[in-house]
Amino acid sequence: MTDPRRRLPSVDTLLVRPEIAALVGPHPRSLVVRAVRDALDQARGAGGAEPDEGWSGAVAGRLARAAAPSFVPVINATGVVLHTNLGRATLAGPAIEAMCRAAEGYSTLEYDIGRGARGSRHRHCRDLLVELTGAEDAIVVNNAAGGVLLALAALARDGEAIVSRGELVEIGGSFRIPDVMARSGARLVEVGTTNRTHLKDYEQALTHQTRVLLKVHRSNFQVSGFTAEVDAAEIAQLARAGGAASVYDVGSGLLIDLAAWGLAGEPTVPAAVASGVDLVVCSGDKLLGGPQAGILVGHAAAIAACRQDPLARAVRSDKFTLAALEATLALYRDPERARREIPVLRMLTEDVDSVRRRGEALREGVGGEASLIEGESEVGGGSFPGTTLKTWLVSLTSDHLKVDLLAARLRAGDPPLIPRIHEARVVLDPRTIFPDQVSAAAHAARAALDG
Ligand SMILES: *Cc1c(COP(=O)(O)O)cnc(C)c1O
Repeated sequence: MTDPRRRLPSVDTLLVRPEIAALVGPHPRSLVVRAVRDALDQARGAGGAEPDEGWSGAVAGRLARAAAPSFVPVINATGVVLHTNLGRATLAGPAIEAMCRAAEGYSTLEYDIGRGARGSRHRHCRDLLVELTGAEDAIVVNNAAGGVLLALAALARDGEAIVSRGELVEIGGSFRIPDVMARSGARLVEVGTTNRTHLKDYEQALTHQTRVLLKVHRSNFQVSGFTAEVDAAEIAQLARAGGAASVYDVGSGLLIDLAAWGLAGEPTVPAAVASGVDLVVCSGDKLLGGPQAGILVGHAAAIAACRQDPLARAVRSDKFTLAALEATLALYRDPERARREIPVLRMLTEDVDSVRRRGEALREGVGGEASLIEGESEVGGGSFPGTTLKTWLVSLTSDHLKVDLLAARLRAGDPPLIPRIHEARVVLDPRTIFPDQVSAAAHAARAALDG
């Protein structure tokens, strides 16, 4: 008997079959050829049989998978507003428009129109940051991790930087303060204990080698019980008296006070600046609600040192970031408008009845297997740890799908719907579902339940 694998069609015979030939055009020929080869390889591995779905079905399936982008929009039904894995902050309308304009054409990225000559990219968000935070000067870099690296390199390279043991934190996978300090060329001097650090601990560690006193906001966890930390104003004062600089990494970049909405405990950037530290570092895409960025604001000499450091070039921000950040910051000139139009702030301060109405609409759209239950949303992004927001969850039940399978089907939908598992149930939190996504979310949930 001849080996059935020898009877497999050739690549060329498959490529001229009309259904397969029709795939060239919509897809690049090279991709179709690869899909044909892969389908043949698989058939050879399986003993030489024609695929169950036929040759054209097998090729089309492979092609669709190969052509699909991996970076796609999803509906965030987790209720975690700043979900780092889902892209943190979504942008306000004016920021999206500014980003598109920067993408579509040439711009004044590093061009001074008045002089008709080269300008500086560092100029763009500077005045707005100065205006909104009360700082003397500002610089924007790629992200806050880069900002801390740049600050320490510029101010403490080859010298010592003192940090409290209670603030040697790791933030969101792979950003560890001690590691970043080591890379900056600063020597880490730890003071105090995990739960308590006093001003005298800093005083005793201060030597002529000390270049920076660093304070890090414990973004993603809380310490409670017998604790003590030194506030930024005292650190700033001590650093000044000792001839060192002070740096305060506040993390989330909150520009306006949200205590009236039950969100307290995060330092605002203006308050951090007012404490008198030389540099405040924060993220652009956490509570500020802008694009990924690291923002440094503070005293003119400290910002100038950052700007002149060779690392500034390595961590500089791109034109899309600067365009989106400038437009986001401009909204803060009217804090109420910022709260309404910046999606992160809008979601965090949305009234629970309004969330409930969106939940009702979603529940109705899904039908019988959905019910509305009380629950809690999270801020996320290491901001306001321990604070939760009241919400209403759409709970999905299925008589034939287990929880994990239902969740997997939701994630595999088009668009993918990312649910949360809550007390062994699949739930959708309308807080992070935009009003114009409710019907798509309902359809996606319906399709997942029906399959
Ligand atoms: C989130 C965070 C960072 C890192 O910010 P990125 O912009 O993600 O680099 C650094 N420090 C603190 C305190 C943070 O909360």
